[in-house]
Amino acid sequence: MTLPQDTAVFEKLESEVRMYCRTFPVVFERAKGAELFTEDGRAFLDFFCGAGSLNYGHNNDAIKGRLLDYLASDGVMHGLDMHTVAKRDFLARFNEVVLQPRGLDYKAQFTGPTGTDAVEAALKLVRKATGRTGLVAFTGGYHGMSRGSLAVTGGLRARRAGGVGGGDVTFVPFEDGPLGPFDSVGYLERLLADPSSGTERPAAVIVEPLQMEGGVYPASRGWLRELRAVTEKYGVLLVLDEIQSGCGRTGTFFCFEDAGIVPDVVTVSKSISGYGLPLSLTLFRRELDVWEPGEHTGTFRGNQLAFVAATAACELWQQSGFHTGLAAASERLDRFRAELAELDPALGLRGRGMVLGIDTGRSGGPERAERVQRYAFDHGLIVERCGRYDEVLKVMPPLTIDAARLDRGLAVLRDGLTA
Ligand code: PMP
Repeated sequence: MTLPQDTAVFEKLESEVRMYCRTFPVVFERAKGAELFTEDGRAFLDFFCGAGSLNYGHNNDAIKGRLLDYLASDGVMHGLDMHTVAKRDFLARFNEVVLQPRGLDYKAQFTGPTGTDAVEAALKLVRKATGRTGLVAFTGGYHGMSRGSLAVTGGLRARRAGGVGGGDVTFVPFEDGPLGPFDSVGYLERLLADPSSGTERPAAVIVEPLQMEGGVYPASRGWLRELRAVTEKYGVLLVLDEIQSGCGRTGTFFCFEDAGIVPDVVTVSKSISGYGLPLSLTLFRRELDVWEPGEHTGTFRGNQLAFVAATAACELWQQSGFHTGLAAASERLDRFRAELAELDPALGLRGRGMVLGIDTGRSGGPERAERVQRYAFDHGLIVERCGRYDEVLKVMPPLTIDAARLDRGLAVLRDGLTA
């Protein structure tokens, strides 16, 4: 019999590489909505949401019902990239709810199941489509742990662990970061316009519209528009990584959409299935579909159960109650931000929609952020840290959270910051 909170087998058999279990050292058993429950019955409010994979909360009933029906009917569970009813239903609904209303005439490529697979496919595609190999990425950016994605990721620790060198990637300071604002697009234009810049014209620029792991730095709408204009002017493709910022996290389905730009390529993962099931896709302008059949394959492209969940998740966006709930919760998070600004004007407070970064960089630093994180955990709240030095508390409640639970979690954070 397993004793409650017995962790011996993890320590004995699981690699030292494990991470989150060290910050949240309990054994979770069940989860519902905004809450996680340990095997010994303690409840935790979840303001981390599987790093953005559970935007609709844990075990969302509307999605669960469809999954149970699919399982009960012996629906196809694995299909490589064969035609299935589950995939057809998803593509049709995704087009109806997400692409068409935004005027996005994209084709979709289902990649391997994790976010980095979608990024790898995007990088391969832009190189094949342009015949160029160089890429431009931004300081503070995060795109995944496989080699191609690491090459465009800023974090040196992860790059070194992956044995990734500089290669043909040029890093440009992001619009904002711990060292302050920067004229990224002006700098980029200098590189592209000057035949003596020492930089070959790249295949693409890859960017997160809101840097999450880097410390919750949203790109301004104007900056995204300028970036689109400059990349277009010089014939460079623009890849938007919406893996963590997408699927409603910032209040709109894609974070980039309120800038009014159309990226050439968009990577989507995490909350697209709506249930924590693995599913990733790379979207691109129809003309960029230069793939020959079978040039980029994978055994687990398009998890069938995830398609069923993703179709149901798209349908949530067709319900007015979902939109009013999201707007109300975002407003509450905004008011909390104003309260914190008054409480401690030295805190950096950034975010959009349902993500708030509380930056302790000029007010206590990583040690304070860690203390608040531990205080939160001790008071039944899961919240993760991010940023260059883990100095930023990344607050990401489910988009569907009710007002009482949201208030309760925010009160814990406020108390933690004042404790
Ligand atoms: N891009 C972004 C913006 C991400 O936040 C992440 C994951 N945190 C990834 C790519 C990689 O996704 P995965 O961990 O599923 O490979």
